[in-house]
Amino acid sequence: MRVHSTRGKDGRSLPSAIIQGLASDGGLFVPDGIPSIEWQAFAAIKTLDAFAHRLLSAYFQESDWQPSKELCASVFSFPMPLRALNASWHSLELFHGPTLSFKDFGARFFAACLSALSATKPRTVLVATSGDTGSAVASAVYQQPNLQAYVLFPKGKISQRQQQQITCWGDNVHAVEVEGTFDDCQRLVKEAFADSRFAKFHLTTANSINIARLLPQQIFYAYSSVQRATALQKPIHYIIPSGNLGNATACYWARAMGFPIGQIRIACNANDSVNQYLDSGVYTPKASIQTLANAMDVGAPSNLERLQHLFPDFADFRAQVNSGCVSDREIKSAIVKAYKDYGYLMCPHSATAFHRLQDCSLEEPWVMVATAAPAKFEQVLEPLLGETLAVPDALQQLLVAEHHSDTISAQLSALLHLLDRY
Ligand SMILES: *Cc1c(COP(=O)(O)O)cnc(C)c1O
Repeated sequence: MRVHSTRGKDGRSLPSAIIQGLASDGGLFVPDGIPSIEWQAFAAIKTLDAFAHRLLSAYFQESDWQPSKELCASVFSFPMPLRALNASWHSLELFHGPTLSFKDFGARFFAACLSALSATKPRTVLVATSGDTGSAVASAVYQQPNLQAYVLFPKGKISQRQQQQITCWGDNVHAVEVEGTFDDCQRLVKEAFADSRFAKFHLTTANSINIARLLPQQIFYAYSSVQRATALQKPIHYIIPSGNLGNATACYWARAMGFPIGQIRIACNANDSVNQYLDSGVYTPKASIQTLANAMDVGAPSNLERLQHLFPDFADFRAQVNSGCVSDREIKSAIVKAYKDYGYLMCPHSATAFHRLQDCSLEEPWVMVATAAPAKFEQVLEPLLGETLAVPDALQQLLVAEHHSDTISAQLSALLHLLDRY
């Protein structure tokens, strides 16, 4: 399949778009057409990785390269359980990967594809992070042949646990502490891409705009909706905690493919750009506001452009996209309520979906998406619940591993010097 830019001036093969990342006209790559399937045919597929391979293959048809069964098995190697809250509501847990957030799936598929596509030309993945993305990408690139990764984070500005999850890898993954802010880290990445002295490293970035991070996220919705709809014989509704709207876009694509997905609701934190757009029809990017659901602190959601491309008519966009903002106070009470009523622990991001779930019908099959493990946010949960959370084994392993990072000043010459050294 070929893909094209949301801004219309760049069309290419899917593997080439994975290497390229952002389209050359500044837009985001989207499929030329969403492949359509018969969902009942997917119901007979026994394993998650075979399911993923079948779905993803539909996008790589006619490409000069396809992800193999083994590649899909290496990416989809941990479960995504549906936990029942009551007879009709479920929580879809997407946090059982190595760094305990849903970003593990997209980051691992991206890294595995890029590694396979780099056999004749080793590549360097450069990423600036304030949290979850950095650890997911670091873990995904770790020991992938043909790839090096540099993960830039602001010195002293991320939590100790977050830092430990970025600095524990070693081998081909380099953690880089920058003496500056998160904006300095992002600026360095941008400047490096624009500077010819970096050309020899064959730089690529791993942020959430890469289409290889979006495509595998469709499996969350495809797989779980087929499971539930086979039992219930009706479509399944979803509520998705959102920031850059990558996860939500994947759900819309899965529905467009023909999977039995009914309503889709988006849960945002206090960052309200999407809601303002829905109210006024005018999109105004904003500076982000800090909230308890910090991986969703986005004032200018990049994948809005993909959703607008899917629903180009604003009246249709409004009919299709239902978004709600959830305040920090509401996040806190949702965490407490979920624990009291259902004995269920959830992270602050997942709590935005749980908050919106309260307005849904008890007669309908609603699925709230749980995007990160509660244990990653013990600083929020423990004082609220008055209990100490157990640390999951996967996290414990990262915390006790040996840690290493290099420190550089917030200058491009310092970054160049570091890349030259390795
Ligand atoms: C990144 C992230 C989100 C937001 O996902 P988008 O695809 O950016 O909308 C939600 N929850 C967690 C835990 C995340 O890490």
